[in-house]
Amino acid sequence: MNKGMLIVLSGPSGSGKGTVLSEFLKGEDFKLSISATSRKPRPGDKEGITYFFKTKEEFEKMIDNGEFFEYAKFNGNYYGTPKKYVLDQINNGKNIILEIEVQGAMQVKASVPDAVLIFMTTPDIKVLRKRLEGRQTEPQEVIEQRLKTALEEVEYADCYDYLVINDELEQTVSDLKAVVETAREKTKSNLEFIKKFKGEI
Ligand code: ADP
Ligand code: 5GP
Repeated sequence: MNKGMLIVLSGPSGSGKGTVLSEFLKGEDFKLSISATSRKPRPGDKEGITYFFKTKEEFEKMIDNGEFFEYAKFNGNYYGTPKKYVLDQINNGKNIILEIEVQGAMQVKASVPDAVLIFMTTPDIKVLRKRLEGRQTEPQEVIEQRLKTALEEVEYADCYDYLVINDELEQTVSDLKAVVETAREKTKSNLEFIKKFKGEI
């Protein structure tokens, strides 16, 4: 059995990751990994659905116990991917997607060479501002901070395998599907098939 695909999706806050993923996941055989975080729940967050909410101390204990596949500090809070769920899925041939920021993505790239890294942006920074303002989930000073962070994050875009520009939603979902289909065909995602073909397993 081939291992499951591991997709990493990153992009500035407001680039549309959540919106695009919820459409993408409707038609695809991918599970979304649920992260742990030490940030406080926001309106709309649900324990065990959007995140596993932890205190800073609980999170640090999980780090010490080696429970994370990757983790990072972002905007003063910890965020991390619990290791067990991700490894169980992949080893059972199930495809999984991580929606994580760039530091965590770079850790995954280093530890799982066949992970597929996708970076999402808006067509430009003005559209990003408009989307963040339109979402009405953060005060103006937080939006300014996120726009600054966005420019730092975009510096990492060329470390990713693919870039998806979220202009028109339906097109973006179809672009993401096309990227995933292309990535499925990568030879490094099909090592088990090749071994079987050669009669090695
Ligand atoms: P992220 O998860 O990357 O922080 P969101 O999915 O919350 O971003 O999207 C930010 C805002 O932009 C939301 O209000 C969302 O409805 C809107 N949005 C996302 N994609 C598009 C799009 N293609 N066109 C117009 N608005 C969009
Ligand atoms: P938010 O607080 O808006 O939910 O998330 C802030 C940032 O943390 C987003 O860029 C999101 O992708 C990232 N993030 C969420 N979960 C994880 C995780 O498990 N690991 C890492 N490294 N980043 C995460």
